[in-house]
Amino acid sequence: MTTIKTAHILCVGTELLLGDIVNTNAAFLSQRLAQLGICVYKHTSVGDNPERLKAALSEALSDADLVITSGGLGPTYDDLTKETVAEAFGLELELDERSLGIIRSYFERTGRVMTKNNEKQAMMPRTAHVFDNHYGTAPALAVSSSDGQKTVIMLPGPPGELTRIFDEEVAPFLRERSDSVLVSKNIHIFGIGESAVEEKIKTIMTTSENPTVAPYCKEGEVRLRVTAKAHSEDAAARMCDGVIEQILGSEVGRFVYGIDCDTLERALVDKLHEHALTLCTAESLTGGLIAERVTSVAGCSDVFFGGCVTYTNEIKHALLGVSEDTLARCGAVSCETAMEMARGARERLGTDIAVSATGFAGPTGGTDQTPVGTVFIGVSTKYGEDFCKLTLSHMRSREYIRTVSASNALNMALLAVKKLTKS
Ligand code: ATP
Repeated sequence: MTTIKTAHILCVGTELLLGDIVNTNAAFLSQRLAQLGICVYKHTSVGDNPERLKAALSEALSDADLVITSGGLGPTYDDLTKETVAEAFGLELELDERSLGIIRSYFERTGRVMTKNNEKQAMMPRTAHVFDNHYGTAPALAVSSSDGQKTVIMLPGPPGELTRIFDEEVAPFLRERSDSVLVSKNIHIFGIGESAVEEKIKTIMTTSENPTVAPYCKEGEVRLRVTAKAHSEDAAARMCDGVIEQILGSEVGRFVYGIDCDTLERALVDKLHEHALTLCTAESLTGGLIAERVTSVAGCSDVFFGGCVTYTNEIKHALLGVSEDTLARCGAVSCETAMEMARGARERLGTDIAVSATGFAGPTGGTDQTPVGTVFIGVSTKYGEDFCKLTLSHMRSREYIRTVSASNALNMALLAVKKLTKS
């Protein structure tokens, strides 16, 4: 059996080119093929046009061992994927009684009437490997060139059918034909920018070819994806762990808040659970965003008591006990106010930790000393208090400033848990 190392994903459907539908099938297939250790070289989208499909198929076959098509297996005259592939490989289509039986029983099961043109979907090259479709009418199939060097797998377009057939039948088929697997692990980093991360671990990033280390950044967070290719999942995972250990031991290590832990809020809720600690929030510019993110984590009710959104000075004073003197002397956007907000919330809500955020989200407001983008985060615990000042660019959107402020607050709370528990 020829080993499959490379793939080309060829999606068929004029609605893809018109922008009527988003090509989720290509994204799904790419992710799954990567897990199987098969390198995806290219994605192509082509309309329901026989000549252009033929040309796209010929190009796809010239540069990869495997072509996976999506769509164009329907019963109508313009569904031409199977016919085009059969022609390219010089194969005749003939009625496959077994597939016809499955299509018939699908119609019976779903109480629909089968029309004559559905029989077209049971026409197969004799040498095809058929993947049964229990979720729709079009069976999927694989055909190979006569020398076995090239394989085309044809999948129906509806994502509900394509994803299930792939996971249930195509993945095992490909696993037998791939000599490796890819495993990726994500290192989640907060409090340091992408370029600073690269600077500090440049040697690891540039010298490590397997595993590879690729950075991604999103609104103040950096993620390093470590990907290893090996003959087994265990071996690939061990290779990833080796590089992760090196990164944890580097200058970047202290900014790492988790491995494959999804989000800051999840890391925080998990840590609170682990140490049986409780949290509350006191928010001004974030208007409840911090609490919203914490409560998006299932199971947070054991560790999160609640939060106060205190926007005006009067409410900061009335609900959290921020002193009128502090508000008048230092202003609502100050470390003093942030600290009193956190302290007041912790005392009133009775939690181990409280985190607060106050600042200017813009686009208007701010002063010469504290311009838009100035944010103070406060943390109060039984054993001590802390704060940080963010100086975000006033050119950033209000949404960005609020999101990054909430992320910093979650990170400060996480650091407080670590400090309290020395973990
Ligand atoms: P059918 O038997 O339903 O006609 P088919 O294999 O011919 O199946 P298409 O007609 O090409 O598939 O697509 C059916 C539907 O599947 C499309 O209308 C669209 O909603 C969805 N679809 C097709 N291709 C994609 C894609 N690449 N990504 C996401 N959705 C898709």
